[in-house]
Amino acid sequence: MCTRLILAGWDIVVLEKSNAPPKGSPTGAGLGIDPLAQQIIQSWLPQPELLQEAILPLTIDQNIVTGGDKSTRILTRDENFNFGAAHWADLHSLLYDALPPEIFLWGHVHLSFCISEDQTSVNVKAKSLQTNEIIEINGDLLIAADGCLSSIRRIFLPDIKLRYSGYCAWRGVLDFSGKESSETIIGIRRLYPDLGNCLYFHLDSGTHSVLYELPKKSSTGFDAAVLGKCLQKWGLENLPSALEEYQSVRVPVISQQVLHSRRLGRIKQGLYLPDRGPFDPSTASPEDGEELQQKNMPFFSGAPISAD
Ligand SMILES: Cc1cc2nc3c(=O)[nH]c(=O)nc-3n(C[C@H](O)[C@H](O)[C@H](O)COP(=O)(O)OP(=O)(O)OC[C@H]3O[C@@H](n4cnc5c(N)ncnc54)[C@H](O)[C@@H]3O)c2cc1C
Repeated sequence: MCTRLILAGWDIVVLEKSNAPPKGSPTGAGLGIDPLAQQIIQSWLPQPELLQEAILPLTIDQNIVTGGDKSTRILTRDENFNFGAAHWADLHSLLYDALPPEIFLWGHVHLSFCISEDQTSVNVKAKSLQTNEIIEINGDLLIAADGCLSSIRRIFLPDIKLRYSGYCAWRGVLDFSGKESSETIIGIRRLYPDLGNCLYFHLDSGTHSVLYELPKKSSTGFDAAVLGKCLQKWGLENLPSALEEYQSVRVPVISQQVLHSRRLGRIKQGLYLPDRGPFDPSTASPEDGEELQQKNMPFFSGAPISAD
């Protein structure tokens, strides 16, 4: 979004409480990126071709299940999957390198903000974690991208509490360079022969694993893309219209996607849902597994990026 706003002529300051940009860790998490996200990210990069170098295409979405006798079988297989996988750290450094470094105030924690009486400006207070110095920034707009525990969102929506949706996950990246012929890797490849262009979901009773390969290199932004586009379209003089359009475009999409993800998480964890019995991988039919395919995510093949 910073790139989009800079292109639209805005001056930007990014307050970030971490002390420095994250370094490309070889064990960083992988990210699944759909075609629209790829297109949007590319439009932000001075060298768009670098994104394709960082992404491994995934053309198959497959659910496999372990039966009662511990044998495995394919439940669903979608060979028209159009997705990609990248190292989180690669994506981060591509985006970060596309921005002027001076817009970032690292090691600055947001403390408070105050909106002017005529609602045309906002004053933000932040503290440098290194020196304890308090700084003030005056701006036209404060974008609160401070994560799922956002202290700014809590001010506007004090009654909305976080709740546990019943899904938990462990993530890890296995670097098997130089170990291709090890027993473990040969065993993994035997069980998951399409690893390299397939997103595997391996379902077991009340749990599941997700596996995909990442490009051997070390180095989602629809909300950001739409907000940037709306701000560019309406300009500073029509800020309320820009924010209204952003909300009207994104809220319907995001609510459906979040509800769908929660439902999918509960099914795969074998948890209760009012309209279907618990999912049992050992007896599930391909029809039972139909709902689990990635293509069923609302707006999977594209979400609107403007109200026009
Ligand atoms: C293990 C894991 C795997 C994931 N995999 C995927 C995936 O494959 N695909 C996908 O689309 N999503 C994935 N997600 C979800 C994705 O990471 C989040 O949805 C996304 O990062 C949310 O972005 P955000 O900008 O809202 O918040 P964040 O990425 O959390 O960014 C918030 C930032 O604000 C900073 N901050 C917070 N408070 C303050 C403050 N007071 N002052 C200054 N700075 C502050 C934080 O340091 C942080 O850098 C995954 C998440 C996790 C944890």
